[in-house]
Amino acid sequence: MAIDPSTGHEFAELPETSPEQVAEMVEDARRALEVERDWRTPLVRSRALARLARLVDGEADALADLETRDTGKPLSQSRADVAATVRYLEYYAGSIERIEGRTIPIGPDALDYTLREPWGVCGQIIPWNYPLQVTARCAAPALAAGNAVILKPSELASITPLRLAELAERAGVPRGMLQIATGHAETGAALVEHVDHVTFVGSAETGAKVAAACATRLAPLDLELGGKSPNVLFADADLDKAVPAIVQSLLQNAGQSCSAGSRLLIERSIYEESIERVVTSFGAVRIGPGLEDPDLGPLISQKQLQRALRMLEAARSEGASIQGGEHSDLFMQPALVTDVRPEMEIFQEEVFGPVLAALPFDDERHAIALANSTAYGLVAGVWTHDLGRAHRVAAGIRAGQIFVNGYGVGGGVELPFGGTGRSGYGRGKGVEALLGYTQTKNVWVAL
Ligand code: NAD
Repeated sequence: MAIDPSTGHEFAELPETSPEQVAEMVEDARRALEVERDWRTPLVRSRALARLARLVDGEADALADLETRDTGKPLSQSRADVAATVRYLEYYAGSIERIEGRTIPIGPDALDYTLREPWGVCGQIIPWNYPLQVTARCAAPALAAGNAVILKPSELASITPLRLAELAERAGVPRGMLQIATGHAETGAALVEHVDHVTFVGSAETGAKVAAACATRLAPLDLELGGKSPNVLFADADLDKAVPAIVQSLLQNAGQSCSAGSRLLIERSIYEESIERVVTSFGAVRIGPGLEDPDLGPLISQKQLQRALRMLEAARSEGASIQGGEHSDLFMQPALVTDVRPEMEIFQEEVFGPVLAALPFDDERHAIALANSTAYGLVAGVWTHDLGRAHRVAAGIRAGQIFVNGYGVGGGVELPFGGTGRSGYGRGKGVEALLGYTQTKNVWVAL
């Protein structure tokens, strides 16, 4: 059932794809790869993805409206998600023809070359926070590389992935090449049992289960998991620019982003001033139903809200101070947690809500140590005008993506994205994602 978290209204029924149906979908995908010979020509795939980009753009308002109903996120953020979806499709449509092999010089008696071949049928399991955008992020490079895709969206947000697959067929993506399997964990688990390559985007807990299932079949896997990403704010930073961007890096999608800037490390000499500025920004946030386009919509579910409240309570009982965090229904005020110690859960674990944990640091080395003190390593922001320090800190922080004097930069479709440690492995976005959906074959020919 699709539920609007802003109102609690059910607005669509969703089928539960059974394990048997998943197996049939995989068979259909294999058949499509076998019979759709034209699809093996890169230009044909490129043009279909480019047409799909235009179809998505043509119904941008309707898609944004659906996304906001399904997830509760503010309308302008859904519009940005649709724009990012168009960009993924354009970017991979434009990159397909650049997948090339190499010739390897090995002497006069043989010719050696490599081919980049698709895996076959890719199974992709995604979460509920950016359903449309993450569908495009995963499916576009996989299709571009010549694979078939079966994608399982979250049971909490499946509407826009279904619509994208309908539009793909209209754009000329052959039937069977992009299929959506709606359902719960059982559907996802069944998918992992049959496909040639798995991409899992979601929590570390589920990621570990998917990795175990892949290991028994020796199926290749990319894991794009959660984060506890820090913004590192040095005293020489431009606070007028840094603080609004840091606040936005947390509050985007009500903190329900894998890349949320959920830890703030502040050089001690500007700690008090920075905290005051964050509190003022949090106080000015407009909260309301997604369709009214506030700054902050509801959390997606009771489960998500209860998790955030429980973690705030635990922090309080361990001696932390909390400003904000009041809630009604699924709407929650942003919360700033101070008097934090690095070992506290609130500093170590993903909340996935509008909760920021702040801590002062003394010098560059201390800042890097604090940034690296969690098991995650997805994204980090570094705020300083000292060029040498910016590069040193970027080199020192263990994360897949570092931003200096910025954060997130509007989706960053072209920028390789992924994590280290508990944030997973493999890279989505950019050329890296495209190459990740291929495997290399070496051909040696006696002359
Ligand atoms: P989740 O792990 O609960 O679920 C993710 C998906 O896995 C859903 O589609 C779910 O139905 C499916 N699933 C559940 N159990 C399964 C099983 N045993 N086998 C196969 N599939 C199964 O995550 P969530 O609550 O939907 O999303 C929140 C998490 O996603 C957060 O941790 C967030 O950081 C992460 N996330 C990461 C990225 C990234 O790119 N790194 C992007 C968005 C979200």
